Order: sequence, then structure tokens, then C-alpha cells
Amino acid sequence: DGHGQSGQEEKIFVSVRLRPLNEKETARNESCDWECVSNDTIICKNNVTERSTYPTAYTFDRIYGSDATTRQVYEEGAKRVALSAINGINSSIFAYGQTSSGKTYTMSGITQYALSDIFDHINNQHDREFVLKFSAIEIYNECVRDLLSTDRTPLRLLDDPEKGTVVDKLTEVHLRDWMHLMELLAHCEAQRQIGETSLNEVSSRSHQIIRLTIESTPTEFSGIENASTLTASVNFVDLAGSERASQTLSAGTRLKEGCHINRSLLTLGTVIRKLSKGRNGHIPYRDSKLTRILQNSLGGNARTAIICTLSPARTHVEQSRNTLLFAVCAK
Ligand code: ADP
Ligand code: MG
Repeated sequence: DGHGQSGQEEKIFVSVRLRPLNEKETARNESCDWECVSNDTIICKNNVTERSTYPTAYTFDRIYGSDATTRQVYEEGAKRVALSAINGINSSIFAYGQTSSGKTYTMSGITQYALSDIFDHINNQHDREFVLKFSAIEIYNECVRDLLSTDRTPLRLLDDPEKGTVVDKLTEVHLRDWMHLMELLAHCEAQRQIGETSLNEVSSRSHQIIRLTIESTPTEFSGIENASTLTASVNFVDLAGSERASQTLSAGTRLKEGCHINRSLLTLGTVIRKLSKGRNGHIPYRDSKLTRILQNSLGGNARTAIICTLSPARTHVEQSRNTLLFAVCAK
């Protein structure tokens, strides 16, 4: 169809990463409740308070223990998903987990590796000409903010008949080179930190999306008859702490607007569960800002990888189980 898409729907690649105990946890003599028994199965060793509804063993596409590097986590799932955008296939990579479980640590590494690989591929592909556009947003309390602008006014979402949902007035920077990209990433990080000091716990409640849009056309001498333009985006999504969603879910409270309930995170969970069960029926993309913005990069021909991050500490065992239950639903 000229868009480089195979028309094949792919399952979501779901992996789980267990971080090491941190200094504080080690100082409190926390024990690690989890053991990676193979490269795809993790078990909970804490049977003392085991509720009958919780399984002991969980199996995913891939499990990474506390000795795994971010490079490994990237290479075995996220890489293929990220690189598909070069061939015109939208993709998104998510980090999901409770606050302090390692989402930002994992996603910032993956973002750098993926962007570096994309640059390498593009520089070595001489039969096409590429244009790269970079944008970055934060969604906090259902308000969308431009991380590349000093103006913190919330941006509106518009429905474009061709592109689908677009963020109105969002800064899109044409990338010149690798150094330019590194400057932009540093800028986004600084913007996020400004938010953190002025608003308590902002990073645990906000979603960050870094988006690279890749456009390519065959060069004059490529010998390719089909001169079609390919356009696709890869989205790196560092989600809000999942404790918000799971507290709400376990309390059985109804979804409503409010600072302690994260509509975008709950809707993403619903969308992903529905997508993983087959794509028939209504998928509620329009119920939150996050899922509206990512609609074209979720489901359909899009490629998706989710990395669920876990804290090993006993004090976090309930949250870790909730994260694994989310991961089970996504598969
Ligand atoms: P989150 O974004 O989920 O709130 P962070 O990524 O900020 O969590 O991680 C919390 C702390 O744990 C940070 O200091 C981070 O450097 C550290 N950390 C997270 N994952 C790992 C890991 N796999 N190995 C070593 N340190 C980690
Ligand atoms: Mg974080």
C-alpha cells in the first residue's frame, strides 16, 4: 500500500525488568521477594501473605533480572519496535510501573539507544532522503504541555481528517544532527525538573512522550520506481506511577476527574487490554489525552513494546503484583 506496512497485526511485546535493591532498601535490610527463574518467568517468593488470587509464577516475552543492562532490555524488544518507524510503521515503547521502580532510568536509556540506531540506519541508507522531526510533551492532570516551549499553557487536541488527533501549536523541531538531538533531550529533562520543584510529585503523576517523526522519500538516483513518501513516528513514553491506577482499580472506585486519579493511565490500561484480546469491538481511545495522542501508534499496524518495571523490595510487593497483573493483561 506504499506505506511499508505489512497489514499484519502484531502482539504487544511485553517484558518485565526488576531493578536492584537501592541503598535505602539495603540499609533497612529489605529482602528481595522476586526471583527470575528463567529468561521469561519470574516467581514471587513471598508466600506468607499470599492471597489466593495472586499467582506465584508469571511468564512474559522476556524477564530481566537486577543484573541486566538497559542495553539488553533495549536490544531484545524495543529495538525492533523503534526501528520499524524508519519503514513507515508507527510505534510506541512504554515504561509502566510504580514510582521509583525504574521507569525513567529504563526509558531514558532506551530512548538514547534507539535514536542512535535510527541515526545510524538513516546515515547508511543512501537510496532515501530523510527528514526527522522531534517533539516532546507532558500530560499532567489531563493537561498537555509542550516540553520544548517555555510557555506552560495547556495545548488543545484537534482532529485532523488526515493525520487523526494532533496537538495544536506543538513545537516540532527539524533535527539537524545528533548534537542537536542531544540538546533537545537535555532541554526536555530540564523542563520536567522545573515542573518537579514547583509542583510536588509531578513526575510521578505525569506522562512524558518523546516523539520522533521520520519522513523519507526515495532519492533521484535510487532506481526505485515507487516514489512514495513514508511517514511514521516512534513514541517513547515514560508513564505516570502506576500506583495511582491500581489504587483506584483495587478500591473499585469509578473513573472521575481528580488529581489522585489518572484518567490517561486507566484508559491506556483498558485500551491495551482490549487490543491484546483481539481488535474487535470498541476501543476507547478517545477517553483520555494520552490514548488520543497515541491512537495511531497503538493497535492496527502499529508496533508496541511495554517494559514493566518492578521494585524488588518486600514493602512494594503489592504494587509489584499489580504491575505484573497489568503486564499479564497486555500480553
Ligand atoms: P521511576 O521513574 O519509575 O520513578 P527511576 O527511574 O527514577 O524510577 O528510578 C528510581 C531510582 O532507582 C533512580 O535513582 C534510578 O537511578 C535507580 N534505578 C532504577 N532502575 C535501576 C536499575 N535497573 N539499575 C540501577 N539503578 C536503577
Ligand atoms: Mg520517573
